[in-house]
Amino acid sequence: MSFDYSRLPREYPRQFLPSKIDLTDLTRLKDLFRNLQNRSFHSATDLEKWLKDESELASALAEEQSIRYARMTCQTDDPTREKDYLFYIENIEPEAKIGFSQLDRKYLGTPARKGLPHEKYFVLDRKRENNVALFREANVELEKEETKLAQSFQKTTGAMTVLYDGQERTMQQMGRFLEEPDRNIREKTWLLSESRRQRDRDTLNQVYDQLIALRQRIAENAGFDNYRDYIFRKKERFDYTAEDCFSYHEAVEKYIVPLMHELDLERSRGLNVEPLRPWDLAVDPKGRPALRPFKTSSELIQRCVKVFDKVNPEFAAELRRMTSLDLLDLDSRKGKAPGGYNMELSEIRLPFVFMNAVGRDGDVWTLLHESGHAFHVFAMRDKGFPYQYRSENVPLEIAEVASPLSIDRQAARMDRNNRRLPTLDLHQPESHSGRSTRPMGQAQEKIWRSRKLERIRGIPPIPMATTTTPLRSTLLLH
Ligand SMILES: [Zn+2]
Repeated sequence: MSFDYSRLPREYPRQFLPSKIDLTDLTRLKDLFRNLQNRSFHSATDLEKWLKDESELASALAEEQSIRYARMTCQTDDPTREKDYLFYIENIEPEAKIGFSQLDRKYLGTPARKGLPHEKYFVLDRKRENNVALFREANVELEKEETKLAQSFQKTTGAMTVLYDGQERTMQQMGRFLEEPDRNIREKTWLLSESRRQRDRDTLNQVYDQLIALRQRIAENAGFDNYRDYIFRKKERFDYTAEDCFSYHEAVEKYIVPLMHELDLERSRGLNVEPLRPWDLAVDPKGRPALRPFKTSSELIQRCVKVFDKVNPEFAAELRRMTSLDLLDLDSRKGKAPGGYNMELSEIRLPFVFMNAVGRDGDVWTLLHESGHAFHVFAMRDKGFPYQYRSENVPLEIAEVASPLSIDRQAARMDRNNRRLPTLDLHQPESHSGRSTRPMGQAQEKIWRSRKLERIRGIPPIPMATTTTPLRSTLLLH
């Protein structure tokens, strides 16, 4: 793994936990929970102090788990890292879940809660009421199995490689060839990668089947007919329902799918192939050579720093800081779990970004996106929120807002004429050619986007967000 944990700065000194404590020592851990459980409150101030202490314990435990998770995903074929992660999942996490569930009940039952400012705490109250309503001790064991299945999935997929052109390559590295203008190369490499995936077909299907069965049991234990309804509550979706999602699906079918067909048709004409096959979907639609905006991950970082410098120098400084602390693990390699994520190290309140870069244009956007999540972690650092309000506890619906926002802001700073990022070589989209070189103002851009949508998709103009608040948030790739 990239960062050396022992050398990361500790800028938030502990008030409740001993400065040195092994949280994986169950006796010590139980003592800490007992301390919180037995405390009595005479005022709202006592309760707020208790909440801070509880938050400190939750942050330290989450950080312990995050470190082990990051180490495991960075090298899924290292047995020691796997063992360390599974030890936490099997022994510590269940104890923590039971401990925190008891603290949820204690919090909800205390009369001192009435003295807390509603504005600040009503979300926490709702969260804890939901936790208590859903918690079943029988599910702790099942969730442990669920996490272990997810880990075995990562281990299987992380181990997939293909021998091509005399070299052993990861699936992500193979993805580069799908962007090659030569259709034969694309077809050959796609078939090669797929046949490798097929070899683990039964193993992965088994994981999936087991997960479905487990999740159904978890839902039933909590009094639900099905996992969907259970997970809606568990993910704290208080503001929309499954029915709303179905309406959304219908809207996508009606407006977006025809647009996708239109784009596929354009692609098919541009590439002069009929019909389109799976290996025709990642290449440039006009068959132009693939963009290769960087060779090494340090080049990728340096260029993204330049981009952020133009958006907001504070963003650039934060990415530089992460680089100096080695809080980025970007290169694809054998044994590394697929995908990308940003994760907060909750106690020291610093982000860690993980991805599988192979020199593709898409990797640039992934790092810009994950950086958005990382900036969210920085933005939340000094707000004084309890752990339950910070980073990984932010619901996904809002966590994902800051990443597109950060990308949107970069787009807003790009040269309006050719949509060229300051240091990266992007193709010039047709729709921008022949425009004035003067940058569009915010209002102009809003109108332009709405008209464009209306023209090409028959969709009524969508009101664009016109937030002026400097929102520099975000979280996971996720
Ligand atoms: Zn994301």
